Amino acid sequence: MPFWNEFTHGQFLSECKNTNIAVFVTGSLEAHGRHLPLGTDTILPEHLAKHIAENTEAVVLPTIPFGDSWIFNQFQGTISVQPKTLIDFYTDIMKGVFIHGFKYIVALNGHGGNTPHLESAARLATKKGERVVIIINWWRDLAKDVRNELVETPMGHAGEDETSEMLFVRPDLVDMQSANPARVATRYRVVSAWYREELYPKATYGDPTKATAEKGKAIMEQAKQEIITLIEELEMGKLPLNERSQD
Ligand SMILES: [Zn+2]
Repeated sequence: MPFWNEFTHGQFLSECKNTNIAVFVTGSLEAHGRHLPLGTDTILPEHLAKHIAENTEAVVLPTIPFGDSWIFNQFQGTISVQPKTLIDFYTDIMKGVFIHGFKYIVALNGHGGNTPHLESAARLATKKGERVVIIINWWRDLAKDVRNELVETPMGHAGEDETSEMLFVRPDLVDMQSANPARVATRYRVVSAWYREELYPKATYGDPTKATAEKGKAIMEQAKQEIITLIEELEMGKLPLNERSQD
């Protein structure tokens, strides 16, 4: 169970000698429809990180449960961190990991708003030496085959895929009675602090009514296999350069 914050200062070096990989989970605290908990983007990647800790030697850092949730800021319960704060924070943590001799950081990200800031931090933190940050936007980079096969409606926010995953991981926190479809698809990228409710009605983009725990289980099982394969290959020094994600 290699969790960074469970080692004593004295244990740390001896316990970490079998790996050069640290896993960094980044989530958010933001509205997810009326039916999913505010911590959805943290709970799901944390579930994967626990699986990594139980099945590999990679060390899992404490989760960062806040992110850049500007888009959902006017929905109750959301707390958003500014980009510059997040970039500084992520950079300091990444540098702190590398100072301890780790070569790879696997950033297991649960929230789209964090992605550009993780990338900025990774650029700053990998300037020196042989250091690599791999950013995994898990909801779109992992389990693509299963998603293509089972998920009937477009990927979004609090939609079919994410609700299915939560029905599998934490069904006690899902209120399907309050799940409603909503999807405003704009041709252009519309950015406005004022019209957030119009752009994301009920903090939803997708159709959660199509969600099932079985779909969530299939997605999670494939995601777990893929992430373990990645960690095992990194342990052998093999970078995942074979397939480009379509961002
Ligand atoms: Zn989410």
